[in-house]
Amino acid sequence: MAFLLTNSVAVAGHEKTIKLLNEGASSLDAIESGIRLVESDPEVRWVGFGGLPNMLGKVQLDAGIIDGSNMHAGAVGAISGYAHPISVARRMMDELPHVLLVGEGAERFAHDINAERSDNLTDISVAEWKEWLDEHLNESEKKNWPDISLIRPSQLTATNKTAKGTTVFLAIDNNGNISAGSSTSGWSFKYPGRLGDSPAIGSGIYADNRYGAAACTGMGELTIRSNTAHSVILYLKMKMSLKEACLEALNDLRNVQTDFRGGVSIYAMDKNGEYCVVSARSEQDGLPECDPYFWYWNGVDPSVKKINADMHEW
Ligand code: ASP
Repeated sequence: MAFLLTNSVAVAGHEKTIKLLNEGASSLDAIESGIRLVESDPEVRWVGFGGLPNMLGKVQLDAGIIDGSNMHAGAVGAISGYAHPISVARRMMDELPHVLLVGEGAERFAHDINAERSDNLTDISVAEWKEWLDEHLNESEKKNWPDISLIRPSQLTATNKTAKGTTVFLAIDNNGNISAGSSTSGWSFKYPGRLGDSPAIGSGIYADNRYGAAACTGMGELTIRSNTAHSVILYLKMKMSLKEACLEALNDLRNVQTDFRGGVSIYAMDKNGEYCVVSARSEQDGLPECDPYFWYWNGVDPSVKKINADMHEW
């Protein structure tokens, strides 16, 4: 039987992914197709086309994909000018002896495979970016822009409004093969070249047919430091229940010292298709700065179910 677990912003990709899983496609093909549709959805402001730009106004995208049957993985970081970073990551995994390509190298490879080009920057994103600069730059920074140090303004992006936004897909196909994938424009107005956890295999995504799959959204700076997605799988290997594994990974994150602690959500599915999603947020919020709900489908139900995440305070 097939299963699919995604985060809240993945709706555009559900129908296609489920159709492919029902037709017997591999989980890898199914999630790549689904994520491509989220990347094309301008309503999703943190993934692909319509994603918010970095501090210099350029959309730089990250994506990763992993095949739990053999742990083949591909990821791209800080790639600009292409519509589907998830497919560049997938082709890279199939055609190069590498796992992670960034910036110019990722773009060179995208060019080599004739990947679909897209500027990804929309008028609404430009307007939000300009508004942010106007509110946060001081007079001297505005006067000398862009020949300024980006260090001070970058520190101002560590907020619950900006440190977020990704789509994640976890799927099991009819052959029991488990895959995980992720795509994002990352932390809004980030320092140019910043990578989040989405292309960091083991931090933002992981899958292993023997145990299950896990993925994260939220503040990648935390999950990278704790290797969260892989930890969930390791805890499953150590015979914890799925819920225990997620809560233990959350506890590990609590132990990571940081001045700013943004929200994090952990999505996990075991090899039988059971799911668990835990979200942690900081006390002072008022905003749901981590995913308050997610989507789940199993091969039996006709439709995808919307389910509230298990919410925790940090
Ligand atoms: N995890 C992503 C990143 O750190 C953002 C998010 O999912 O909220 O880039």
